Amino acid sequence: SYDEIKKCTNNFSQSNEIGSGGYGKVYRGFLSSGQVIAIKRSQQGSMQGGLEFKTEIELLSRVHHKNLVGLVGFCFEQGEQMLVYEFMPNGTLRESLTGKSGIHLGWERRIRTALGAARGLSYLHELANPPIIHRDVKSTNILLDENLTAKVADFGLSKPMSDASKGHVSTQVKGTLGYLDPEYYMTQQLTEKSDVYSFGVVMLELITAKLPIEKGKYVVREVRLAMNRNDEVHCGLKEMMDPAIGNTPNLIGFPRFLELAMQCVEELASDRPTMSEVVKSLEIILLNDG
Ligand code: ADP
Repeated sequence: SYDEIKKCTNNFSQSNEIGSGGYGKVYRGFLSSGQVIAIKRSQQGSMQGGLEFKTEIELLSRVHHKNLVGLVGFCFEQGEQMLVYEFMPNGTLRESLTGKSGIHLGWERRIRTALGAARGLSYLHELANPPIIHRDVKSTNILLDENLTAKVADFGLSKPMSDASKGHVSTQVKGTLGYLDPEYYMTQQLTEKSDVYSFGVVMLELITAKLPIEKGKYVVREVRLAMNRNDEVHCGLKEMMDPAIGNTPNLIGFPRFLELAMQCVEELASDRPTMSEVVKSLEIILLNDG
């Protein structure tokens, strides 16, 4: 209930605040069982918020997978909307890539992170009933648990695929600039391939640690240009690589990882692999490791 949640976050004290996003503020709390939880709190605002809240609950209550952030409960009381999630002690993928969370992600760990997130998305696309398009895949929506297992979060923008396949056209482009499928951006036709594109951008982020748009430059475009420039061992990417992962020639599976990322960000949705194909490819890259 509202009072229980309030109590376990120490009255929503500032010291328990762990972040804020499009939805509202996020707090850490402790259940009496000792379980640590993350509470997304939104003071009743726009209709949009109300709608997103209901969508999110409906979807999440049906969805269970080890690579998706689990919903522990929810509360809709006293003009507030609250979603209670399992707490991810190692923060977002973005934070690890910027060194903010104090976690160093080595190359193999990066492949595993991509694989975990890919499995979560593949589950949403193919096994959830009805299938779900995430619609806002990005490095701040991939969280790391205590074992550094990647879990996909934030279904606030998700909706069942059945709506989308009816040819639903939204006037409002959702998602995050830089991660957005260019085809979706033009046609506003949403498919699971939009998530594949965003996921490809995240894969490039794992390689470069750069945000998809930096100083007005699109990383996808920059990588494409760099790859065309030459075909040496660094795949032309030497200058763009995240220095934190070390020397490219020593990175096992690097060329295949890069190739897969570039397939995911193909301009035409039909040229992109499905998420389950991405999972298979990443598994193969990992298997051949070492
Ligand atoms: P956005 O709307 O920008 O995606 P969110 O509202 O989902 O952001 O989350 C804001 C921040 O709160 C995240 O960047 C993350 O640092 C933190 N956060 C969200 N969910 C959790 C969780 N389950 N465990 C730990 N931290 C979380």
